[in-house]
Amino acid sequence: MNIAVIGAGPAGLMAAIQAAEGGGRITLFEHNPNIGRKLLVTGSSRCNLSNDAVEAAAFYCEDPAWMETILGVFGVEEFRRALDRLGIPTQKTDDGWYYPRSQSAQAVVEILGEALAERGIQLRVATHVHDIIYGNEAFQLHVTGLGLHQTESCDRLVLGAGGKAYPELGSRGELFGSLEKLGHAVRPLVPALGPIYADLGAFKELKGQRFDVLASIWRGEERLGQTTGNIIINQDGFNGPGVMNLSHLVALNPGAGLTLQVNFIAPFWSDLADILTGQVAHPCSLRAGLLRYFSPKAADFFIRRAKLDPAAKLNTLSEEQIRQLLEVSAEAKFSVTGAGSFRNSQVSVGGVPVGEVDPLSMESRLIPGLYLVGETLDVAGPCGGFNLHFAFGSGYLAGTHLASLQRKLSKERT
Ligand SMILES: Cc1cc2nc3c(=O)[nH]c(=O)nc-3n(C[C@H](O)[C@H](O)[C@H](O)COP(=O)(O)OP(=O)(O)OC[C@H]3O[C@@H](n4cnc5c(N)ncnc54)[C@H](O)[C@@H]3O)c2cc1C
Repeated sequence: MNIAVIGAGPAGLMAAIQAAEGGGRITLFEHNPNIGRKLLVTGSSRCNLSNDAVEAAAFYCEDPAWMETILGVFGVEEFRRALDRLGIPTQKTDDGWYYPRSQSAQAVVEILGEALAERGIQLRVATHVHDIIYGNEAFQLHVTGLGLHQTESCDRLVLGAGGKAYPELGSRGELFGSLEKLGHAVRPLVPALGPIYADLGAFKELKGQRFDVLASIWRGEERLGQTTGNIIINQDGFNGPGVMNLSHLVALNPGAGLTLQVNFIAPFWSDLADILTGQVAHPCSLRAGLLRYFSPKAADFFIRRAKLDPAAKLNTLSEEQIRQLLEVSAEAKFSVTGAGSFRNSQVSVGGVPVGEVDPLSMESRLIPGLYLVGETLDVAGPCGGFNLHFAFGSGYLAGTHLASLQRKLSKERT
């Protein structure tokens, strides 16, 4: 069997490596000069691979049952075992985020590169695939490499060319047109996991400050989404996981007059509430009380906005004064002015609808022998390793299916 894989990102690399377990000729096409270009920058170059919270409901995926099927076969433990077999042991942070033991995306990419070589996978880097033609149960790939235009044939094709995020790292969505010509639907792609721009008003003063928050996006009275996490306030809005998980909602609702509500005290509210209501004896000043959780700059900002006396004893605040404090710190509202573009968003939402792909093999339900993996599909996860879990996982399922198909074929031949 002659198998071609397009894209040496996590999805394509894993598909090629797994498929090689069944023998056959495997060629991996990548238009960057090196493999795993985006993988190298993941998790601030530490490669956040997965997360204990990986479950179907956590993903942006129109069919949670489809995602459940995948995670039922390739959950966190299966993923860790698969990586371990390749020589990439993993470790977990206290909050359940998985990284390679090496804490190095570079190390992961090098190990995957060696796995390709060990398995005799033909790697064609600096080779751009322009178009995919299907007919007579085979695929023709129009490729350009080293200045030469060529047509390559294969019996099975794995497409792991990514979405459209961070185009300078290689994935620019150039093969979605070919997929449409083959009959696949392609949902419009929008950036996700990026900054949210907003009218900061007085909060501009807190530029550069970081907070752990509960953030929600509202369209009128309707809450479109909510998440928790760390944010940083910058010149024109917010960045960091606490808002990135919501940015696709902004991109999907242009001009909808959205509001971002940020609760700056949610993570320690129960602690603070005990003091405010006098349940815990803590006769400190309001300022000292807030300094337990905020920098002096942020504490002074909230006290000033709430028009309170910084020296007032925390456990003597009236209900009205507590309400004033909560209004500025727990219910801060910002008019959303936009979301990050593909250039500064980590993933894209959109692509081929999951219903067009079998979740156990990742084979197209429309074109037999075509496998779609990773961000090419209309799936996105929140920050925290969910997207690499899906990219590696979908590649693993496609590769494993191809390997067993090859074993079956060689058995039939003998
Ligand atoms: C800055 C940043 C940090 C991130 N951090 C994390 C993280 O810590 N954890 C996490 O889970 N996710 C993270 N992500 C998201 C994650 O990197 C992606 O979801 C994942 O890489 C998608 O894998 P993929 O294999 O589907 O696509 P990609 O990694 O995009 O790989 C696709 C490959 O196909 C190649 N290609 C595309 N078109 C062609 C063509 N026509 N011909 C030949 N080759 C082609 C591209 O050059 C590319 O190498 C991060 C993303 C970014 C940008």
